[in-house]
Amino acid sequence: MLDASHRYFHAAADVLGLSTKVREILLSPFRVVKVDLVIEDDEGKLHHNTGYRVQHNAARGPMKGGLRYHPTVDEDHATALANLMTWKTAVVDVPFGGAKGGIDCDPETMTRAELDALTRQFVAQTKDVIGPTLDVPAPDVNTNADVMAWIMDEYSKYQGFSPAVVTGKPEHLFGSAGREEATGLGVTIALREALALEQKTIADVTVALQGFGNVGRHAARLIAESGGRVVAVGDHLGGVANAEGLDVAQLSGWALEHRTVAGFPGGDPIEGSEVLTWGADVLVPAAIEDVLTEDNARDVRARIVVEGANGPTTPAADAILRERGVLVVPDILANAGGVTVSYFEWAQNVQQFRWELERVHAELEKAMTRAFASVRDVAREKSIDLRTAAFVLAIRRVGKAALARRNVREKIAL
Ligand code: GLU
Repeated sequence: MLDASHRYFHAAADVLGLSTKVREILLSPFRVVKVDLVIEDDEGKLHHNTGYRVQHNAARGPMKGGLRYHPTVDEDHATALANLMTWKTAVVDVPFGGAKGGIDCDPETMTRAELDALTRQFVAQTKDVIGPTLDVPAPDVNTNADVMAWIMDEYSKYQGFSPAVVTGKPEHLFGSAGREEATGLGVTIALREALALEQKTIADVTVALQGFGNVGRHAARLIAESGGRVVAVGDHLGGVANAEGLDVAQLSGWALEHRTVAGFPGGDPIEGSEVLTWGADVLVPAAIEDVLTEDNARDVRARIVVEGANGPTTPAADAILRERGVLVVPDILANAGGVTVSYFEWAQNVQQFRWELERVHAELEKAMTRAFASVRDVAREKSIDLRTAAFVLAIRRVGKAALARRNVREKIAL
């Protein structure tokens, strides 16, 4: 995955004519933290899990990015995702750098008490390198507002009251209104803007969605509320399709209860992976990375792909989709709504002030439409695809800040 994020970076760096030296400055992670977390399970047995925090770049502000709890988390993975956060915060122009981390664990097999203990141990061992002006974690795959509350609580024990150390907290504990649905709402805005390029609206299209977690669930709801027809949804346990459009509210209730969309009676059962090549106008991969590969990219029937997940498309698949004229709205633009509202939450915490939901939505709308328009303009100006354009925009912003801070003799036309 690191290789993929570097390839996308270099494609944009080529467009900008960046020297090897500047590329090296921009790609090297600032700090890589690896911790051995030892906790007791409910029976008193000791367990080791490895935790990671990769802090990639702080040129534009405190580093920012999620924490994921998943068996695939490792240093390479966290580094790639930290990189993406640096470019994402720059695309949407929030004053943060990029970081990412997580714990190599399987939350599905753990009790709530074990998750709490593991989270607190992680904070105890990283407390000196995270903080409101240093590095601010947030939810990601398999982490949620509860986990963020534990982080805030544990960190505050060491450093004093610090709600701004983490975002995505519960609303009753210094969380922001609108944070939970923010990524899904951002995905919906990105889709709306992409369709506007073809003078279409969400009400004109059918949508297939992979993943029904925090991102997919809210995106499906908001797309349906905008009049779009969600015709297929899949997750790692199965999928469901209905050409008339799935009842998203009912599907959400089912998924909440059964922890999967599989078996939902309001449609026909399909394989979870079938959703990627489903006959819908739009595909939203909103689960995990590397799901669109050279093996299935030729079979994708959607004409627009909006990346709700981070890194769902491999470079080989990306090239195939481009060749086939499929418009890909890249992750660092499409799913930037989450980190944007994280920024609003952090700002509210720092100011000890609360925003109404309407204000959060209005500011998110502004940030996403502006980011989309900036990426589109770079794409037109340079005759490049949206992903390369998003990286060009981000590299320009991060590069300017990074070089202004360092005594780099080389002058680059960014
Ligand atoms: N994990 C989310 C992402 O990948 C949110 C990060 C944040 O809010 O800091 O963008």
